[in-house]
Amino acid sequence: MEASAKSLIAVCHELYQRGFVSGSGGNVSLRTQDGFLITPSGFSLGTLTEDQLAKVDFAGRPLVGSRPSRESPMHLAIYRAREDVQAIVHTHSPHATALACLLEPGRPIPPYTPSYAYLVRQLPLIPYYCPGSQALADAIREKASGANGFLLQNHGVVALGASLTEALSVAEEIEDNCRIYLLTQGQARSLAAEEVDEIWRLMK
Ligand code: 13P
Ligand code: ZN
Repeated sequence: MEASAKSLIAVCHELYQRGFVSGSGGNVSLRTQDGFLITPSGFSLGTLTEDQLAKVDFAGRPLVGSRPSRESPMHLAIYRAREDVQAIVHTHSPHATALACLLEPGRPIPPYTPSYAYLVRQLPLIPYYCPGSQALADAIREKASGANGFLLQNHGVVALGASLTEALSVAEEIEDNCRIYLLTQGQARSLAAEEVDEIWRLMK
């Protein structure tokens, strides 16, 4: 049993237990030398096992295992655009998804807490595209530099990390930040740009 597959499965189970995904929603991937390991399409992340994982190469070809997640084009586009990204978590976490149904693209979601500002940096809202479409992958690629998270309009969250643990933390920070937005009806004091700069300087 490969350690990387084991940690990927642990993240899947945690996402399900925390209510960040339900049904067969969500997907998780981890960069490897020749491509990425990714969850299979149409399975619950809550009960997924290592032998059900799929593998995709950097040309987007499925290698071994089950049918890869329909969002493989989106994962591939991110790995190609961002060499620093080692892991990607896609969730339908409730507060973030609610906000993604409420807001219009172009309206930035403000940072409320230092840990969010530090980890997520920016959270572009990607206009609605059909799940699994190349159009969705292309839209994310365009915004990939500088952001560690994305809200997908009427769909959910994409969180990037230098490790699986970091991608999971980014997904958690996004859910928390969106919960604050909703609880305070968008009226909460957000961190100012210079406060975010200071966090970046001091927390590095
Ligand atoms: P997959 O089961 O194909 O990964 O799809 C789940 C999903 O969340 C699509 O956006
Ligand atoms: Zn989805």
